[in-house]
Amino acid sequence: MLAALAAAPDLDVIAFRLGIPYAHPLGHRGLTHSVVFALCVGLASLPLWRLARVERAGLAAALTFLAVVSHGLLDTLTDAGLGVGLLIPIDDTRYFAPFRPLLTSPLSVGAFFSLRGFAILGNELVWVGPLAATVALAGLGVRRALLRREGAS
Ligand SMILES: [Zn+2]
Repeated sequence: MLAALAAAPDLDVIAFRLGIPYAHPLGHRGLTHSVVFALCVGLASLPLWRLARVERAGLAAALTFLAVVSHGLLDTLTDAGLGVGLLIPIDDTRYFAPFRPLLTSPLSVGAFFSLRGFAILGNELVWVGPLAATVALAGLGVRRALLRREGAS
């Protein structure tokens, strides 16, 4: 679920079909890649987590925020495009990280099934894989600690 939410900001590619320019605040890598958007999604998810009877709905909402905000932050590490509107709607500036090792993914699923697509996946595996593994291990550690604490009380 969180992985799908982390990918959701790229649904903004529909802006191209709607005639919204890339550089517009509602364009690709604009509002949906911002911290404000991630906060809104995280807050909106809270009643849904409660409705789904998730025991720690607040924690799930915080993880939802982190999953969504991670997308924009990782996009700042890519080598192409106009940058990421991390602070939209407060500031329309597009940002890149000073270090940009990630190859930019194609916007179409079909383009992934090419030599360039596989090269991009390999590149992401090298740069994002260790980070994702670290976050997953940290999450497992937190979960284990919470379960241990519950068992002790
Ligand atoms: Zn993106």
